[in-house]
Amino acid sequence: MRYPPVSLLRQNNILLVRGITLLFLSCVTIRINLCFSSVPSTLKALSVDGHFNFDEVHHAARDFGNRYQFLPEAVLHPKSVSDIATTVKHIWQMGPHSELTVAARGHGHSLQGQSQAHRGVVINMESLQGPDMQVHPGNSPYVDVSGGELWINILHESLKYGLAPKSWTDYLHLTVGGTLSNAGVSGQAFWHGPQISNVHQLEVVTGKGEVVTCSEKQNSDLFHGVLGGLGQFGIITRARIALEPAPCKVKWIRVLYSDFATFAIDQENLISAEKIFDYIEGFVIINRTGLLNNWRSSFNPQDPVQASQFSSDGRTLFCLELAKYIHQDETDRVNQEIENLLSQLSFITSTLFLSEVTYVEFLDRVHVSEVKLRSRGLWEVPHPWLNLFIPKSKIQDFANEVFGNILTETSNGPILIYPVNKSKWDNRTSIVIPEEDIFYLVAFLTSAVPSSTGTDGLEHILTQNKRILEFCETAHLGVKQYLPHYNAQEEWRTHFGPSWEVFVRRKLAYDPLALLAPGQRIFQKALITFS
Ligand code: FAD
Repeated sequence: MRYPPVSLLRQNNILLVRGITLLFLSCVTIRINLCFSSVPSTLKALSVDGHFNFDEVHHAARDFGNRYQFLPEAVLHPKSVSDIATTVKHIWQMGPHSELTVAARGHGHSLQGQSQAHRGVVINMESLQGPDMQVHPGNSPYVDVSGGELWINILHESLKYGLAPKSWTDYLHLTVGGTLSNAGVSGQAFWHGPQISNVHQLEVVTGKGEVVTCSEKQNSDLFHGVLGGLGQFGIITRARIALEPAPCKVKWIRVLYSDFATFAIDQENLISAEKIFDYIEGFVIINRTGLLNNWRSSFNPQDPVQASQFSSDGRTLFCLELAKYIHQDETDRVNQEIENLLSQLSFITSTLFLSEVTYVEFLDRVHVSEVKLRSRGLWEVPHPWLNLFIPKSKIQDFANEVFGNILTETSNGPILIYPVNKSKWDNRTSIVIPEEDIFYLVAFLTSAVPSSTGTDGLEHILTQNKRILEFCETAHLGVKQYLPHYNAQEEWRTHFGPSWEVFVRRKLAYDPLALLAPGQRIFQKALITFS
């Protein structure tokens, strides 16, 4: 599908887009008299294979972030793609005077209400029972899955064929639609790119209720728009995901550095070389003594005697985390290779930790922590996470300030830090990343202790996040937020920078009434007049 070039002209609150006047109501709040009680009855009259729930809707007003709660009018549990299309089309046909909006909810692991819909309709994507998952082996293997499918289920199904997706997130209990609406980044991204770089085809229900199949070749503007598109252009109902032969085992390695510059140089060299490791990440350890004892349960030090003499002395340490996949009968060769590769790195020699696990154990590693945290009542707490993409040229400045001045006491959760190659990201998609060839993902994955007013409380963590963001801005680091969330449209414009016009044009093309993704408030529900 091709679109004419657009000329955008913003005058006060009016955005003129080639003959279409779109009045964004971001600054002017117009209350339209709408009798909300009439809304459920029109939805009740819709013929769907699944069902609507108008009473038990509270679970759809929660997410992993545990900080935002927007109660919907109804939750649709679709059994077919046509249920979703019928519902969206119905709301589209109600026109701009209805305030009803629609949010797709995957596994609800958003942080700031992104998959919620205040007085709108939430579509529970996990109920979607499309055709079963279909693995297609062959020279370029792939799997066709529902947009509401969990990645953990895709792993188990594709492994039956000796195959697996190439690019992952650290945690697999997330849906395909949820991660593809963002990017899906983990330690494989340096080589394979994020998950949005590993999709061949999508089926999407647009904001007009149309069901569209799209790919690089077919309706490519919609395809690229939806990938990283924050759920703004359509609801992903099906995805075709690239697969590769799965390894049977994984050598999982952790080594420590006390100097950030040395750590960063090793990380950057590793991601720039040919694919010598299959996974490259890293994390920061702040003020933790007795570190090595904590690790012994799952990771064995290569030299236990030396390791026992290592003490972190409360220093901030940087941990490089690597994995090498082992396919059948390769163990000896891989062990030799790992030894050679590690000898070229500059970590503290007594801190080499090695573990051999199955591929599933490796990929599903965060779930183990989830189970432990749940049993201690520490999973469903507020999560004021902050995720940033930072250009390589500025990462040392960032580390100096953040790990040297802002976060010195404790981190209230893991801090991931690892570089990726921009060449593996497709600049036609909607994801916003820094300009440089290499940039870092830095993820502050904090948990707040409910009702604490101390350093582990929500207020304190939010203040720290604010300090980090303020530093990034005043030092002009060129940082972009991942899983972004802003309140004002002006902030969104700044976030998107030069790609804002493309984003708005796509919104007008696929969701001109701004029905979709209401929890992700980029556009208020719009009034459109054709001039
Ligand atoms: P939801 O929270 O349900 O939805 C997220 C957004 O996508 C919403 O805007 C929603 O409307 C939209 N959406 C959902 N389904 C669809 C659909 N079918 N079509 C269109 N839009 C849709 N991210 C990474 O990149 N890498 C990681 O390693 C990583 N680890 C994580 C670990 C944990 C413990 C958690 C909680 C999150 C992690 N994330 C990670 C973030 C995660 O990728 C996003 O929060 C993702 O959106 C969650 O998926 P979900 O299925 O829960 O989506």
